[in-house]
Amino acid sequence: MLRTSSEILAPIREKVEAGERLSFDDGLVLESPEAPLPEVGELANLVRERKNGNAGYYNINTHLNATNICVYRCSFCAFRSDLREAKGYWMQDDAILERGAEAVANGCTEMHIVGGLHHQAKYDWYRKVISLLHDNYPTLHLKAWTPVEIDWFSRLTKKPIRWVLEDQIEAGLGSLPGGGAEIFHPEIRRQICEHKADTRRWFETHRTAHELGLRSNCTMLYGHIEEARHRIDHLIRLRELQDETGGLQTYIPLAFHPENNKLGIDNHIKKPTALMDLRQMAVARLMLDNVDHIKAYWIMLGIGTAQLALAYGADDIDGTVRHELIYHDAGATTPEVMSVADIEAVIREAGRDPIERDTLYRKVDRTADGFTLGEKITAGV
Ligand code: SF4
Repeated sequence: MLRTSSEILAPIREKVEAGERLSFDDGLVLESPEAPLPEVGELANLVRERKNGNAGYYNINTHLNATNICVYRCSFCAFRSDLREAKGYWMQDDAILERGAEAVANGCTEMHIVGGLHHQAKYDWYRKVISLLHDNYPTLHLKAWTPVEIDWFSRLTKKPIRWVLEDQIEAGLGSLPGGGAEIFHPEIRRQICEHKADTRRWFETHRTAHELGLRSNCTMLYGHIEEARHRIDHLIRLRELQDETGGLQTYIPLAFHPENNKLGIDNHIKKPTALMDLRQMAVARLMLDNVDHIKAYWIMLGIGTAQLALAYGADDIDGTVRHELIYHDAGATTPEVMSVADIEAVIREAGRDPIERDTLYRKVDRTADGFTLGEKITAGV
């Protein structure tokens, strides 16, 4: 006999209402088409409001991808370039400093820095990207390098990850972004990015960063060849790290964009639907009971879905953004920048209260000559 939707979700609802942790099997139920999305969303919203009230966080940020030339060939990547391709570029000091000046002039509190692993770039160049920006624009928080890059620096220098992170902190690194996670399960990871830093290295990097006092974000790339069990496995691995260190601050589910990359073209993959996007947001909010924030990255989701996501578990929609290349190269059609007025209107229209935060979730108060930072906004109040 077919069970009704509330029967399917009743045991999970009880656990969520009691603040109990959900299991791997609960995660599979939440992923199942039999579990109606509005009900899954309602449960996620309960947790979201318990943790973050009615807040809709955003920041004023910019991106820097200082080179797109990369030794690796991840099959999902539309951003990378070979050395001799026309689209390949490698930014030098002036261009990097110009990006910093533009960021500060536009009120940015954060620069998000990731990019390719250039065959000819020495570790010192990567270090200089950070020290140049930090020395010249000290108010800019530098959220930089995925474990793939940190692992590469470790190979270039023949030093351990801890040494690389300590050296980067000395240069001005402020926190780690969440990229490079893709899908941790080896069945999938070896098919989409077999050469770059593996799951063990990803966790080693974040664990070490947390031990050194850095906060970091985490992500998952969904909507390609993975299955629900791989996604739940991925979330549980992140939850276990968070139990251990408490250093993860935001989880960002990343929807696969299938254009201009081998994975999408060879497998005839279509971009995930808005319903899939919302389910991933909600499932993450329910499974990651120990991570404070879930982000709906509007650049990738589109503004409409990001607004809806604020009722499906997300409490943050990323920032005003500037110079985003990675998802636009893969077919994203969202604008490349949003004004503060527009991002606040987007959040308000979704029924949430816009709050400008910095990278570390301190409230930003704008003043005539810049900004001041308040205390860290505490989740769970
Ligand atoms: S995802 Fe990163 S490591 Fe992989 S090919 Fe693209 S730029 Fe290189």
